[in-house]
Amino acid sequence: MAKSNASAPKNPRKIYLDHASATPVDPGAARIMHRVSEAFFANPSAIHEDGVAVKNALAAVRAAVAEPLGAHSDEIIFTSGATESNNLAITGIVNASQDENFFRGSARPFKNSHFVPHIITTNIEHASVLEACKYLEKTKQAQVTYVPVEPNGIVDAKKIKKALKKNTVLVSVMYANNEIGTIQPLREIAKEIRHFRKDSKNSALPYFHTDATQATNYLSMNAEKLGVDLLSFNAAKIYGPKGIGALWKKRSISLAPIMHGGDQEYGLRSGTENIVAVSGFAEALAVAEDMKVKEVKRLTVLRDYFIKKLQALDKRIILNGDAESRLPNNVNITSANMPSDLLIIELSARGIMASAKSACKSGDGKASHVIAAIRPDARELDGSLRFTLGRGTTKADIDHTAKALEQILNKLKKWYN
Ligand code: PMP
Repeated sequence: MAKSNASAPKNPRKIYLDHASATPVDPGAARIMHRVSEAFFANPSAIHEDGVAVKNALAAVRAAVAEPLGAHSDEIIFTSGATESNNLAITGIVNASQDENFFRGSARPFKNSHFVPHIITTNIEHASVLEACKYLEKTKQAQVTYVPVEPNGIVDAKKIKKALKKNTVLVSVMYANNEIGTIQPLREIAKEIRHFRKDSKNSALPYFHTDATQATNYLSMNAEKLGVDLLSFNAAKIYGPKGIGALWKKRSISLAPIMHGGDQEYGLRSGTENIVAVSGFAEALAVAEDMKVKEVKRLTVLRDYFIKKLQALDKRIILNGDAESRLPNNVNITSANMPSDLLIIELSARGIMASAKSACKSGDGKASHVIAAIRPDARELDGSLRFTLGRGTTKADIDHTAKALEQILNKLKKWYN
């Protein structure tokens, strides 16, 4: 690899453009966590006064987290994050489907044979959905259909409809993609699922799950309006603490736990509840809801300004994913014949934090499965770069970043063009 950081300034100004992988912690959420960690250390399962105080605090926090979803508080299951929520939703449904009660009065498909449930998902889901599905497939616990997205990074609801089968127990489609920011047509998919349920005289199946992790900051979280039955989200992407998330599921859905123990979280997620983290989560969620409309407006303008600037730098810079139906903070580009990791390192040397693909998968040397899904013709050296803006991002940051990228591209040209 060419030596490349010779021209980077020594003490560059810091610009953080990687909010899709982690956000700073909201100061209000941090303050609340600090206070709660001092005041509420008892175990909420204890029946003494201190335990009951934590139990009550937990109930209040659960109600606050349920609110933006328009949900009942007992439908919120706190988890360690969206990875666990996704695993619990998918594996929990598959395992529960082995129980006759799962079908609630409606005929269990293939009554006299071993029931193999079917899942439908897309080929651009987060690894915690794709790998959970692949594992269930490999161990013959489920059949899975991976519906490919269109070249704009959006799945066609009609293709989901076509994939529905008698034994489909779950459709899992992410709300917004973590790499290219494309927003999936959840309401349209929900409509197809509703028609399918009606036609097959099975009032409840398949269930519809969405991974809303990247959408929480910017899009409506009202579960009923979205038409979903289960929804995963976390605190780490919404200026809350790391290591805490939730799965919302409708009361009527029976789910099997993936961990066994003391029966906390309605028996679906055993282990002593983390009152500090859930308090920070609830506060971060409330702040995100308050800021949503304003931030979406502000960031959409900045995002489109940035895209225009980048495309003016070099005609061969291509925006990955739909230009309209995308998160207001996401700019993902492919720069022809430039390796992503090199661009990331060059940007980092200039104080600019960006990323190439999902942070959980970066550095493994493999191409992004999301970019491969929308650009099967991409060459090995065509790097994708993801900039995700956030609350602190200003127009000056965008100008500075575009300028830095221009310098980097000019410098690397001689090696990579
Ligand atoms: N789903 C999506 C879309 C994500 O972006 C992430 C985080 N990268 C996850 C799931 C996993 O979240 P967590 O780190 O809370 O497990």
